[in-house]
Amino acid sequence: MSYDRVALIGLGLIASSMFWAMKRAGMSGHVTGYARTAETRDTARKIGLCDTVCDDLAAAVANADLVVLCVPIGAMGPVMAEMASYLKPGCTVSDVGSVKRAVIDAVQPHIAPNIHFVPAHPLAGTERSGPESGFAALFDNRWCLFTPNGADREAVMALSSYWQGLGANVDELDPDHHDLVLAVTSHAPHLIAYTMVGVADDLHRVTNSEVINYSATGFRDFTRIAASDPTMWRDVFLSNKEATLEVLGRFTEELFALQRAIRTGDGDLLHDYFSRTRAIRRGIIDAGQDTDAPDFGRTKS
Ligand code: NAP
Repeated sequence: MSYDRVALIGLGLIASSMFWAMKRAGMSGHVTGYARTAETRDTARKIGLCDTVCDDLAAAVANADLVVLCVPIGAMGPVMAEMASYLKPGCTVSDVGSVKRAVIDAVQPHIAPNIHFVPAHPLAGTERSGPESGFAALFDNRWCLFTPNGADREAVMALSSYWQGLGANVDELDPDHHDLVLAVTSHAPHLIAYTMVGVADDLHRVTNSEVINYSATGFRDFTRIAASDPTMWRDVFLSNKEATLEVLGRFTEELFALQRAIRTGDGDLLHDYFSRTRAIRRGIIDAGQDTDAPDFGRTKS
């Protein structure tokens, strides 16, 4: 099933990729878009992002069969509250937030009994943001995880086929479990990357020249991750506090163990550890979630 009218609220990386993916798939529905600043709305109009760009939220969601919140996590609740009274009875509200429990807690209280709320999270992104950063293939063969929280099954199935149309595979998870899994696979790694780049920045002597000029692959990958949107990531950590702190606690313990192995010259421990982690990389490639080309398949210019 596809929706006749879709409203995308927030016009950044994720919303723009959704729009281009809908067009690529030939989905027939009309798409309205809304962003809070006139600058973003003007850019959207200029590049043909959305069939109609609205200057106010109420106009964007009126008559929509599907409304997708594509704003930072901290803005989900306030935006939902503002649009609640303009929604068409029977419509589905969804979101793309990277944390699920906090979004459910913020949005659900504003959902009227005649509206379906199906929280979702596409596991796809880049370090870029804004209306011009999206592209149609972003969701291809990536997972879109639903945390339906008791939502109407027909509404869930309709949203599943919509995301499959955008190129994604879909699955369902409990919201708290989602947040723990993502703390391991995404949130803690981002914090570690931010920290590593921060450490290099602290060492001003090298940052000014060598760190940039002689940047090796490991550090370059950290800098790419650490270039991610500061608002989005601030909100992720503040709203997935417990799971992130749990993972970081375990991370610190392991780091100390490796630190000690280096200090005591325990090569066997280091070798065994690195062999185990290498196998995990193999598993990700076998699951089709990355390329096994050297240097992540970067093309050299
Ligand atoms: P983005 O490119 O930075 O775009 C965010 C959009 O939200 C912009 O249109 C912005 O409007 C609007 N916005 C920002 N603050 C707002 C506020 N306080 N009230 C209303 N609107 C506001 O962000 P994105 O990367 O698409 O991320 C959007 C959502 O997707 C986030 O919840 C994030 O957790 C989730 N997500 C992101 C990724 C990723 O890798 N980027 C992956 C999966 C899920 P203006 O431009 O007018 O300021």
